[in-house]
Amino acid sequence: MAEQHQQRTREHPRYRYVGPAEIRARERDAPPGVALRQLSDLQRWLAARAPGPGRAGSAVVTVTFVVTPDGVLRIADRRSEHVACAGGGEVLAAGELEISARAPLEITGASNQSTGYCPEPRCWHALAPALDRLGIPHPGGFTFACEFRRCPACGERNLVKDGWLECALCGADLPKRWNFASATSPPAPTSAP
Ligand SMILES: [Zn+2]
Repeated sequence: MAEQHQQRTREHPRYRYVGPAEIRARERDAPPGVALRQLSDLQRWLAARAPGPGRAGSAVVTVTFVVTPDGVLRIADRRSEHVACAGGGEVLAAGELEISARAPLEITGASNQSTGYCPEPRCWHALAPALDRLGIPHPGGFTFACEFRRCPACGERNLVKDGWLECALCGADLPKRWNFASATSPPAPTSAP
């Protein structure tokens, strides 16, 4: 669609951390994710992660990822917090990647699932160029696209499932549009109270 194409050529919105302050504080000294500037960076990370013969055989590795404002893709073990992977800063994209770790390497799954940053599905357009630079095959879009909303009544971050716009915590109605203020864009319009 023409509109989507235009979004791709515009500057990517930045997302700031919107998760609990205590997690950010706890992760302050955690090392950031490993920067993947070329494919060998990923190969080295996978090799270091799976030294034993048992783990080396695992076919698919799921990792935490962020794209930092300089456009660099950083990954960390799946248990890692996105805010730690990002070094505490803003991101252009965040979520999870599934990597088929047997040669030739391939991205078999991708999502924007990050409750720390709650990014919009369109953050794919910041991830894709970083994957293209690595020269790694990828699915061309999120295989699992998450819609996040903040509850206007209780403040809970919700992952909207099946279009069900109701807060999982308090039952209040959730807005139709993404409503986390991004760092560089004004907040999405919200309906009157
Ligand atoms: Zn709520």
